[in-house]
Amino acid sequence: MPACPSNALALEPEGMRIDEDRCSPCDICADACPSGALEVIGGRWTPAELLEQVAKDRAFYETSGGGVTVSGGEPAMQPDFLEAFFARCREAGIAAALDTCGYADWSVYERLAPAVDLILFDLKIADRTDHHEATGVYSDRILANAAALAESGVPIWVRTPIVPGYTASEENIRAIAHFIRERMPTVERWDLLPYTNLGRPKYHRLGLAYDLETAEPPTDSQMARLADIAESSGVQVVGSGDDR
Ligand code: SF4
Repeated sequence: MPACPSNALALEPEGMRIDEDRCSPCDICADACPSGALEVIGGRWTPAELLEQVAKDRAFYETSGGGVTVSGGEPAMQPDFLEAFFARCREAGIAAALDTCGYADWSVYERLAPAVDLILFDLKIADRTDHHEATGVYSDRILANAAALAESGVPIWVRTPIVPGYTASEENIRAIAHFIRERMPTVERWDLLPYTNLGRPKYHRLGLAYDLETAEPPTDSQMARLADIAESSGVQVVGSGDDR
């Protein structure tokens, strides 16, 4: 067992355990792990260093008409970093998009909206009580931010993960469609994203409970039916379904 400077490592009958409250993290244990069972995922970057990385794909952005998307987790939790990074993207002529769950304080979106070329905005559940049951917070702030961003004029693509038992009801998609039609006239596109269980192994590796353990991805015909309903929003709907 490598020497942990924070005394955060303990060898227990079930295996190695890391006390995350103590972990610095210094990466010594991952570097010393002979089997690769512990590995460092991610890294720390300054805005300038990150721009240097993304600029390596400039030719691809120019050919595809795309750019860089900042996603998460929730990137809006790091507004100072994002503002500095987006400013560098703009100076470099690289289009930038922010992918957000919409729950940050409005002051964050007010700062970031002028700095980006596109916002990918998650609208998962329209009903406030259902939203609270599924996520632990009410949808009020998210819907208010969505409407205010639409009013600001920034191009928006709405994204809805279609998760059976949570977001996949016809009633929910109908309610989001109504909200987009009434409150978000500048939305350019609405993506319906079928749930996949690809995240399950990651949770297991981190020793975390996976709340969607038994959830199955929606079928193509379910996706097609929901996409039909979503079209009542009046915006372009992009989903998957083999019988549309
Ligand atoms: S990353 Fe460093 S501080 Fe954290 S458990 Fe490993 S050795 Fe200890």
